[in-house]
Amino acid sequence: MQNLPQIQHLIDGQLVAGGTRSQDVFNPATGLAEKRVLLADKHTVEQAIASAQAAYPAWRATPPLKRARVMSRLKTLLEDNAEQLCALLTAEHGKVLSDSMGELQRGIENVEYASYAPELLKGEHSKNVGPAMDSWSEFQPLGVTAGITPFNFPIMVPLWMWPMAIACGNTFVLKPSERDPSSALLVAELALQAGLPPGVLNVVNGDKEAVDTLLTDKRVQAISFVGSTPIAEYIYATGCAHGKRVQALGGAKNHAVLMPDADIGNAVSALMGAAFGSCGERCMAIPLVLAVGDATADAVVAGLQAEIAKMKVGPGTDADSDMGPLVTQAHFDKVKGYVDQGVKEGATLVVDGRTVSVPGHEGGYFLGACLFDHVKPGMTIYQEEIFGPVLGVMRVATLREAMDLINAHEYGNGTCIFTRDGEAARYFSDHILVGMVGINVPLPVPVAYHSFGGWKRSLFGDLSAYGPDAVRFYTKRKTITQRWPSAGVREGAVYSFPTNR
Ligand code: NAD
Repeated sequence: MQNLPQIQHLIDGQLVAGGTRSQDVFNPATGLAEKRVLLADKHTVEQAIASAQAAYPAWRATPPLKRARVMSRLKTLLEDNAEQLCALLTAEHGKVLSDSMGELQRGIENVEYASYAPELLKGEHSKNVGPAMDSWSEFQPLGVTAGITPFNFPIMVPLWMWPMAIACGNTFVLKPSERDPSSALLVAELALQAGLPPGVLNVVNGDKEAVDTLLTDKRVQAISFVGSTPIAEYIYATGCAHGKRVQALGGAKNHAVLMPDADIGNAVSALMGAAFGSCGERCMAIPLVLAVGDATADAVVAGLQAEIAKMKVGPGTDADSDMGPLVTQAHFDKVKGYVDQGVKEGATLVVDGRTVSVPGHEGGYFLGACLFDHVKPGMTIYQEEIFGPVLGVMRVATLREAMDLINAHEYGNGTCIFTRDGEAARYFSDHILVGMVGINVPLPVPVAYHSFGGWKRSLFGDLSAYGPDAVRFYTKRKTITQRWPSAGVREGAVYSFPTNR
């Protein structure tokens, strides 16, 4: 075996080894293994939990403003180290550098929002709820909290979680994706530089063994998960069965509705980015267009075909690449398998990206953009999340038909409508069973001070990720009612239920 650089864990402020298993981390643009990540065993994860548990009392007692200042310093450090972070991200994930920069910036905005925690934690106060009686609610941290994150946003999704958890006074154990773990680890090291005490944030690399330890250990109070729906469902069921608060965000199949009155040229540009940006490996990507009317469908298919012909597929490090490779060989095989299946099931493959090759990068996991027309509801490529550069056009007769399809679909993460008709857009956003809706906005990913969450099988749990919901998720409400009886006044016993009657 080659002597590859090893990716370790960050426990109690130190980079440490732990676990006897490890796996290769590949550069998807070359197909070469460049590092090995250690896979934490139960004992290693327990050490991380113990470190978080030990750090909790002092961190909980740290004034929120001092906790927030760590976030402000971290924001600056992330900006100062942006180039290195994005290079690491692109080297392991494959996305083009400008996209890595966008991901990092969205992550930084979550750190910025977490720095407002003192304001967000202020609580509620009522004077004179009864005679000489005051009442207030405050939001107390939970203790040790944990996050398990997917490969597709290795910097941003961890930053949806731990900055707010920590700013609220919790400590944290993060388990990033084992496919591209380095950038999350570097961000955690920057947090130490920003002044985070050892043990407040720990990072364990690993797979199911590490996750299962977090899910079952009594010291872990809450789990945030982002990943595929089958695993999200498992995390939610197992975490809840072990008495934890759980939010588990799952997969997606986001439909865009294209109305006949839409600006087709601009819709085509928007769809190109939404379908093929990050090689389609986004939970808010648009893999399906429901075109209302055959003329609309013909126009959008022609427009997309022309744009795809101009697209440049290549390594994410090349400034002129529009789309990089898929993340791993296994994922490449899976996505390509979906294209094969779409052809077999009778959809019309208008653009076939399966033959793309990138000179000098023959071992890379490159798949060109694929465009299907005449996709039908029963087809596998309609039902299942593909998570690759595959866009399907489906022809529908009316907005109602489009909405019925979206509402019947298993997933409800994101959707959007392209139209110039305000009434149609308003009706759509009001009645569609999806958590995040765009009106002429193809990727309606909420900004850091709103919350992110899908409906149906795209989110298990009651609270969304980041934004105001994160403050609620990472705290528990305590309501205190206080009265100071006047000295010397004797009060008799009251047996009826206290009211203001
Ligand atoms: P994944 O479910 O394979 O992995 C996510 C995490 O779960 C990883 O940390 C992984 O180590 C862990 N994991 C995997 N298998 C496990 C098992 N059997 N038991 C316990 N833990 C396990 O997801 P992925 O492929 O890394 O990410 C892509 C998926 O994430 C897509 O489905 C995408 O839609 C989804 N996603 C959703 C959102 C959202 O906000 N809803 C955001 C990003 C990605």
